[in-house]
Amino acid sequence: MYYGSIEAGGTKFVCAIGNEELEILERVSFPTTTPEETMSAVIDYFKKYQAELASIGVGSFGPIDIHPDSPTYGYITSTPKLAWQNYDFVGALKAVFDVPIAWTTDVNAAAYGEYYYGHGQGKHSVVYYTIGTGVGGGAIQDGRFVEGFSHPEMGHMLVVPHKDDDFKGACPFHGNCLEGMAAGPAVEKRLGIKGQDVPADHPYWEQEAYYIAQCAYNTTLMLSPDVIIFGGGVMKQEHMMERVHRQFKELLKDYVKTPELSEYIVTPKLVDNAATIGCLAMAKDLLK
Ligand code: ADP
Ligand code: ZN
Repeated sequence: MYYGSIEAGGTKFVCAIGNEELEILERVSFPTTTPEETMSAVIDYFKKYQAELASIGVGSFGPIDIHPDSPTYGYITSTPKLAWQNYDFVGALKAVFDVPIAWTTDVNAAAYGEYYYGHGQGKHSVVYYTIGTGVGGGAIQDGRFVEGFSHPEMGHMLVVPHKDDDFKGACPFHGNCLEGMAAGPAVEKRLGIKGQDVPADHPYWEQEAYYIAQCAYNTTLMLSPDVIIFGGGVMKQEHMMERVHRQFKELLKDYVKTPELSEYIVTPKLVDNAATIGCLAMAKDLLK
């Protein structure tokens, strides 16, 4: 018996097949172009395993419709990616695969992976952020995603601009929200080079850490989670976590006593596999 995983990102779709132990047996990726092109590649891929495929977990870029009783459940809704607006993602899979399909956001899937097998294992409350092409966040409380009228959009929380930062922010909706100030493209717009090419001792990184520390501060005070995990391309800067810990402490001023920072604000234990493992775990849990 196999589970399928689809991590649907803005630049690529990562598809994987996993076994009952949630081991990733195979992984492939397809560029995100149009739904017709990308989804037919995805569907062709899983067709090879159709006989053994028990269920599929999907973690998608969004916003997406997660309400089971909504007529547009399973759709990508108001995304800036025009070709994918109002796209019936789950419907396209259901038309070919007669198996249960779990459906959530890409960051929720990553949060679930870490909750299952990563830094959230054995914990009640886990929050996961990605600081990459965009910023997204998802939260789990006792095995369930935190959600209400929709899934959270934590990446668009407002942040206070750093005193030495005159960048107005790159978010087309909010300007200086967290994504507008701290996602990879915002770094690139400010400095004229990609984040991965900015040297570790560049003074900008203190400002970047200030925004991520504010995110951890807001998260701490709103949810008091057991752990806050930061993944995504920008967190590949190895010096970043030390800066975030220090600035978080300065912001919080010991107002609440959090777990030890080295265990409280962390990078993903599953490194780049969090969302894939999360999708496989969702697929597995759907059969319970
Ligand atoms: P995505 O968000 O598209 O899934 P990533 O999480 O890899 O993908 O994020 C890509 C963004 O992260 C780009 O803006 C890229 O410039 C930036 N990035 C990637 N690697 C690094 C790095 N080592 N340091 C800083 N920024 C990085
Ligand atoms: Zn925004």
